[in-house]
Amino acid sequence: MSTEESEQSQSVVFDDGAPTAARVYDVMLNGKDNYQIDRQVAEASLAVMPELKEIALHNRAMLHRVVRYLAAEQGITQFLDLGSGLPSARNTHEVAQEVNPDAKVVYVDIDPIVLAYGRALLENNANTRVVTADIRKPDEVLALPEVRELIDFDKPVCVMLVGILHHLLDEEDPNGIVATLRDAVPAGSYFFITNFTRLSDTPESDQLEEVLLSQLGTGRVRTPAELAEYFDGLEILPPGIVPLPLWRPEEIVIDATTVGVRFMTGGVALKT
Ligand code: SAM
Repeated sequence: MSTEESEQSQSVVFDDGAPTAARVYDVMLNGKDNYQIDRQVAEASLAVMPELKEIALHNRAMLHRVVRYLAAEQGITQFLDLGSGLPSARNTHEVAQEVNPDAKVVYVDIDPIVLAYGRALLENNANTRVVTADIRKPDEVLALPEVRELIDFDKPVCVMLVGILHHLLDEEDPNGIVATLRDAVPAGSYFFITNFTRLSDTPESDQLEEVLLSQLGTGRVRTPAELAEYFDGLEILPPGIVPLPLWRPEEIVIDATTVGVRFMTGGVALKT
């Protein structure tokens, strides 16, 4: 972190010396908003799965394709980005508002550093908000004034759970959280979900889960069948729940057999 950035965030960010998922992910995206403790977790994760940086880029690239598709081709004007992470190049609001300057975007993240950076970046953007909240309490998130001010729950919303549900343990009931969100939005809304995916042919899934659990206290790499349950009651759009680069690709995917391509899968689904 530069001195200026660190001064800017010091007043609002309580750094307790523990690594956070937001900052570890920032390391994966080659960002500069992270501490040594976060880089250590990133290094331990990369030691078991060197493809993680490539995977993070695939995740961001899918986010861009999905938001553009929903804003441009499905007329979605509201995006609730849950577990949004630190602002990085071409965030949800940039992509959505490029298509429709009136598109509304609310970023929600448990890590206050996201708010610290977001607040400065979005000062002059009336159609975007950042809020610190815990999606394990979805009813509270949905009731937040910052959410209600921008998102009209009588109109279709895109609910984004991108790279976050693998940070929730089974006992935190990710399926129940998605179900609560699904019940809160009207027909015509979309769910966009990506998640680490357990590969049966490699040992890395178990090893990565161990690193994340021991160093971040969160981490659950789920099977394709478990991931499909997130989409219960929704109509999954073609091409389905697929390795991220294969979701409506804009470029030819030369080799779809690698761990870097297959370890994270995702999909988009419509509430009918
Ligand atoms: N969605 C972004 C993306 O895919 O580019 C960032 C994904 S990052 C891997 C996961 C984010 O989820 C982190 O910023 C972390 O702080 C956030 N997160 C983890 N648990 C959360 C919770 N219970 N409530 C809200 N945010 C959470």
